[in-house]
Amino acid sequence: MPSTSVSPPDSAWRSRLLFTDLDGSLLDHHRYDWAPARQWLVQLKALGVPVIPVSCKTRSELLPLRRELGLDEAPFIAENGAVVGLPSAWCHARLDRGVGADGMAVRSLGVDIGLIRQRLAVWRARLDACFTTMSEMSLDELMTLTGMSAPQARLARMREGSEPLIWQDDEAGLEAFRAGLAGDGLRLVRGGRFWHVTGDCHKGSAVNWLIERFEALRGQRPLTLALGDGPNDIAMLEAVDQAVVICGCHGLAVSPHQPALYRSEASGPEGWAEGVDHWWAQLQSLDNPAAI
Ligand SMILES: [Mg+2]
Repeated sequence: MPSTSVSPPDSAWRSRLLFTDLDGSLLDHHRYDWAPARQWLVQLKALGVPVIPVSCKTRSELLPLRRELGLDEAPFIAENGAVVGLPSAWCHARLDRGVGADGMAVRSLGVDIGLIRQRLAVWRARLDACFTTMSEMSLDELMTLTGMSAPQARLARMREGSEPLIWQDDEAGLEAFRAGLAGDGLRLVRGGRFWHVTGDCHKGSAVNWLIERFEALRGQRPLTLALGDGPNDIAMLEAVDQAVVICGCHGLAVSPHQPALYRSEASGPEGWAEGVDHWWAQLQSLDNPAAI
């Protein structure tokens, strides 16, 4: 009589990728602490699951943080999807030229910052619009506005594919500005304090780009999880198989079209660990039934 074994669900055998927002998600919004997530980060590293930061921060801001979090072997997504960093294991011999001395290839998925600044100047003149970009602020102004230290503010100003700005005009002006930028193929995205002007890219398109890269290298579609707390995380949360909306401190609605959605009760890194517990702990028990 043939043996009848029950196959574990397909999901138990697929490689996994975890994408995460930083501020208000993996990092505490106020204290930048991540201790509650530490145990999961160690465990995911041991399991070989890349934890990929997906942030509005610049490459220069992300690199030291990534080192501190122990995520050196994983790719990263900076400036809301405009910039992707690939460690050597994620590089493609034919596609990635110009690998840096650190073995990392950096790809721009949006448009060059020079073009964005040029178009901003054009629309300011045409619409007589009143706004101040981050690159126009003095270091002191930026520090006062954001509470960043001087070294942090310097790193935040090293933009490659997006320009944050403070809008100082009315709503009607903002809509005209948005329409003008759209005609140039540029997007206006709401952040916390700033509006961000980027090319035709966002966190979701960059996550899709990395998933496709993984498939091209490994010949397998990974099982993907993403965690985020803000409106600018919605496209990322919709691009993956499973998602966690982390309880935010901002009061803004975050409602992705995502059937596999968990909303954490805790905020920041506590909520992050709670979300990973929810989705991945159950898959882990499918991989290691003896451990149940
Ligand atoms: Mg956030």
